[in-house]
Amino acid sequence: MNMAEPEQFAVAGLRGSLRRDVDMRRHTTWRAGGRAERVYRPADLADLATFLRGLPADEPLLAVGLGSNLLVRDGGLRGTVLLLHAALGELRREADGLVYAQAGVPGAKLARFAALHNLSGAEFFAGIPGTVGGMLAMNAGCYGSETWEKVARVQVMDRGGALQERTAADYEIGYRRVVRRESPRACGASPILQRGDRGDFLSVSQCDEWFVAAWLRFEKGDGAMVREKIKGLLEKRIASQPLNLPNAGSVFRNPPGDYAARLIEQCGLKGRQIGGARVSEKHANFIVNTSNATATDIENLIGEVQMVVQQKTGIELHPEVRIIGDAT
Ligand SMILES: Cc1cc2nc3c(=O)[nH]c(=O)nc-3n(C[C@H](O)[C@H](O)[C@H](O)COP(=O)(O)OP(=O)(O)OC[C@H]3O[C@@H](n4cnc5c(N)ncnc54)[C@H](O)[C@@H]3O)c2cc1C
Repeated sequence: MNMAEPEQFAVAGLRGSLRRDVDMRRHTTWRAGGRAERVYRPADLADLATFLRGLPADEPLLAVGLGSNLLVRDGGLRGTVLLLHAALGELRREADGLVYAQAGVPGAKLARFAALHNLSGAEFFAGIPGTVGGMLAMNAGCYGSETWEKVARVQVMDRGGALQERTAADYEIGYRRVVRRESPRACGASPILQRGDRGDFLSVSQCDEWFVAAWLRFEKGDGAMVREKIKGLLEKRIASQPLNLPNAGSVFRNPPGDYAARLIEQCGLKGRQIGGARVSEKHANFIVNTSNATATDIENLIGEVQMVVQQKTGIELHPEVRIIGDAT
């Protein structure tokens, strides 16, 4: 362990790194927001189990992958962030043909690995800048495919460091939504946004179980053709998304039968700016950080877009991004 810590964090034999007062701008693609009290990056699965077993039972814990769907409020996060990207990175083909991918593996790496093994069906992961853990938690998807369609089973770890396997039948799975049937708090996968008294969003960031790996099923394919398809999908993204500025992908869920981007554009909100946060001119459902946006700028802009769209169209937009942490 890197630093001196209160006794309950100083578990003997830990091989990961524990840092205090960490700027979460470095760990979110919006490059905005507050600090985390503690961040632990485990060395591997066994090390994560040892760390979890040593924690106080009430320690707030939040798993973070690449932070590509997260807004951490400027007041920061209490408790410990489990940083799984660049930590749980095992990726292999099993004897039965399934692909075993740990939670920290990025989507692009997974897609390339599948192509290398002449497997098709993983192409869509290439353009999602998240990790396997984050994609399982969000049921991330695009171009007609979703993460959980590919899942044979998942491996989860609980607060006691125990591993278990689960299947899709253990979860209610929908559009960017994954909730454990027995225990909605599990996996950080329940909708964690709640309406607060002031009409803003509060977060429930504590949970009891996290995705640490998945066994994924892909079809046999031709590696060269798969690589071509990936190239095509990435070109489509570059043409339609403002990837030159920090962002968190689509901010709002698409309402049934419509597109959030279409509604936002129709309401004349493209280019609307608060502080350093701006509704992208290129893709209306993206909010970009033009320069030094605070999480408050971004959250206020989210609120304004919701208000204007509601007033002009009667449709309530719900954030797809997860807003967590304390307000300043
Ligand atoms: C440019 C851009 C394009 C995008 N395009 C798409 C797209 O096409 N489709 C799409 O669905 N999304 C898209 N996204 C959003 C984002 O990439 C996905 O939601 C992705 O799944 C988030 O993965 P992450 O590892 O970054 O998760 P994070 O942002 O780190 O976390 C997201 C949520 O998952 C939870 N979580 C993370 N890891 C775990 C774990 N191991 N166990 C349990 N819970 C966990 C976190 O606590 C948090 O609640 C895009 C984002 C960007 C920036």
